Amino acid sequence: MQTPKVVILGAGYGGLITSRQLEKTLRNGEAQVTLINKHDYHYISTQLHKTGAGTAPDEKITLHIPDLLKRDKIQFKKGTVQGVDFTSKKVQLESGEFIDYDYLLIGLGFDVSTFGIPGVEENAFKIKSFRSTKAIYNHMLRQFAAYKEDLDPSRLTFAVAGAGFTGIEMIGELIEAMPKLCLKYDIPVSATKIINIEASASVLPGFDKEAIEFTESYFKKNGVELMTATKIIECSPTSITLDSGEELPSRTLIWSGGVRGNTLLEKLELPISKGRIIIDKFLRVKGMENVFCIGDAALFMKDDGTPLPPTAQVAIQQAEVCGPNLIASLRGEQLKAFEYHHKGTVASIGNKAAVGKVFGLKISGLFAALMKQVIEARYLFVLGGPGLVIKQFLKIGKPHS
Ligand code: FAD
Repeated sequence: MQTPKVVILGAGYGGLITSRQLEKTLRNGEAQVTLINKHDYHYISTQLHKTGAGTAPDEKITLHIPDLLKRDKIQFKKGTVQGVDFTSKKVQLESGEFIDYDYLLIGLGFDVSTFGIPGVEENAFKIKSFRSTKAIYNHMLRQFAAYKEDLDPSRLTFAVAGAGFTGIEMIGELIEAMPKLCLKYDIPVSATKIINIEASASVLPGFDKEAIEFTESYFKKNGVELMTATKIIECSPTSITLDSGEELPSRTLIWSGGVRGNTLLEKLELPISKGRIIIDKFLRVKGMENVFCIGDAALFMKDDGTPLPPTAQVAIQQAEVCGPNLIASLRGEQLKAFEYHHKGTVASIGNKAAVGKVFGLKISGLFAALMKQVIEARYLFVLGGPGLVIKQFLKIGKPHS
């Protein structure tokens, strides 16, 4: 009998942690596992806002994938997935290459929803990947340099659309980045403006009153112009049009208005809802026995009929069940039903403040910021043990300034 082939698409939180699970449990020669990802680095998505603002060095946000894997157990292949033929069980890469599988895991992550608002897709910046956030930082540098020449205030007006989790984290980093950038370009901080535009009545919809109040007052103290109950209806390279009719002169709109599953998923002809693949309680694509899907790409319905949110916390917990379920499938054993245990949510507002709830306890300020660091360190620990935690903390690459 031929060795079964397991193929994992995407080396994000879901794909990587599943790979680690397989490494630990698979017996030698029991399966041939291939992990496919667009780049040979994994980016820590939960810290992409730092890349966008230039407040963390690239080496802290990206990890070289082959270094994270036991190569005798998992093969890494750099490639961009273009499609999957579920009948002949082949993954097609953009390079034209086909990869055979017996068992497949789809962990292709998220895309940004722009809701068809005119000009947003073309002109706004997205917090989506390492590259897309690096583009935000490089654009900001160009705006600072150009401002020295033409003193056009729209160049130093930085707008963030959305005051949900990601939007707040982005604003927090911008607050910290501005003084450093101003020093670098010898421009007064008073020439810069940070605007947060949110359609709901407050920041952080769904968070506790205390978290909302803490964040709004933190923004006020740091000069952020908060526009709640305001919708963006159009965006051009030099301005943002609001539903009030007002036109804000700004050359930087950072869009964090919501996420959806990777747009590629729609081409796969699988059961899909809201851009995400519908999965069963064992994390398999509905109606398929050999295709699994987890993380932001997957739509898992809770018993109360609501979907699990697209978070790293969900992706990691799913991966911890998906690995054993893939092995159980190979061995013809019983699969385990996935159960989600929410441990809490903490949104950072720069390095020194955060808000959220951990194990039911409401936290804010510096303590919450420290808690956020513990959560990030825990992820590194799950991924690569204490060695990786220490290695990442010792990376001294300087933040950009
Ligand atoms: P991803 O981590 O997105 O990984 C998908 C992988 O697939 C990537 O490596 C990508 O390169 C690869 N890929 C995509 N398309 C292709 C293709 N065609 N071919 C090959 N490879 C491809 N969640 C939390 O729980 N807590 C937080 O504090 C938190 N903070 C966040 C802050 C920010 C700024 C952002 C953007 C998100 C945050 N999230 C947070 C959400 C979290 O990052 C996502 O839920 C998580 O990354 C989902 O993991 P995933 O494995 O499904 O996908």
